[in-house]
Amino acid sequence: MSESSNIEPTIPGPDIALADLPLRPELVGEEPYGAPQLDVPVRLNVNENPYPPSGAIIHDMARAVSSLATEVNRYPDREATDLRRDLARYLGFGLAAANIWAANGSNEVMTHLLQAFGGPGRTVLSFAPTYSMYPEYARNTLTNYVTAPRRDNYTLTSTDILSAIAEHQPDVVIITTPNNPTGTTIPASVLEEVLEGTEALVVVDEAYQEFTEFPEDSACALLSRFGRLVVSRTMSKAFAFAGGRVGYLAAAPAIVDACRIVRLPYHLSAQTQALARVALAHAPEMLSNVSELRIQIQQLQSWLRDRGLEVVPSQANFCLFGRFADRHPVWQGLLDRGVLVRETGPDGFLRVSAGTPDEMAAFRRALEEVLAEHPARVTTTPSEESR
Ligand SMILES: *Cc1c(COP(=O)(O)O)cnc(C)c1O
Repeated sequence: MSESSNIEPTIPGPDIALADLPLRPELVGEEPYGAPQLDVPVRLNVNENPYPPSGAIIHDMARAVSSLATEVNRYPDREATDLRRDLARYLGFGLAAANIWAANGSNEVMTHLLQAFGGPGRTVLSFAPTYSMYPEYARNTLTNYVTAPRRDNYTLTSTDILSAIAEHQPDVVIITTPNNPTGTTIPASVLEEVLEGTEALVVVDEAYQEFTEFPEDSACALLSRFGRLVVSRTMSKAFAFAGGRVGYLAAAPAIVDACRIVRLPYHLSAQTQALARVALAHAPEMLSNVSELRIQIQQLQSWLRDRGLEVVPSQANFCLFGRFADRHPVWQGLLDRGVLVRETGPDGFLRVSAGTPDEMAAFRRALEEVLAEHPARVTTTPSEESR
């Protein structure tokens, strides 16, 4: 399913394979990361917001880009100051531009953090199962990557986190809430206890925070007390701006300064900055479908449970369901019916994202058909009991 297999060579090249090149040894055998990008009617596989912007926002975005074109010969604002000020205003919590760093998606923000605070001889700790990109950021920055397990219901207590820190002595800890792919959350009170007990840099990845029942229960509230706390956010999910590629962090200005040292100059294009600012100027409208998506995924969780499936209780815009003796034929059966979900997470589970009501209906119809051929395994589920 490699993407490059779709690209026709345009010129005849020398017959050289990857194996013939002096690749860094740790990259040998690695595959480019990414969920399959397949052109199917119902795409519920990468946790995007399914709603495109309104005509009015599209118009403002087009106008912003066309006025920028008059100075496209000039480099953009290297510091992205206006965008960072807008992001600070959006987050609230008394934050200012100096507290914010922005880059091309959280993936670049996380890479900046590990370039600055990880690196050879340093360790980053996260809690499995979790986001599959973290080991890639670690690999690319030559940082040692270790994980500690979550509980059977995929939650974590401050004791769990602090004892994993005591065991692994990490320089950087990544705590994901809501966690991908489980959708489980960790309250700010637990994060506070962790921060009181460690000197490590603690990165809280809140990519899905806007979808949660209590979005204001954010680690952002702890920033005024903890100088080694970083809260990572993105415009890719709730903000319906995945194609714009903007992720950002909130932290003490000194942490922002560290990111400014390692970033490539002019890393955020003028167009990216301008489009993100238009989106932020229309924040209420960009976010207007978040509560509906939340309802969709909560209703879907009940529907799945009613069919005897195991569901991990999720606060994000996706959920895990299973368990299947073999999840692959279920994934394939859904795909054959035009519905793309993600084959990820613990063994026997699939992950589905919240879509429009029509997309959810298509998913339910397809799944009922597939379940007739591939029923889920009946289990007593720790995640149900602890709910
Ligand atoms: C989707 C996601 C992100 C956001 O990635 P971007 O690079 O900003 O698109 C970050 N963290 C987690 C856990 C995610 O699932």
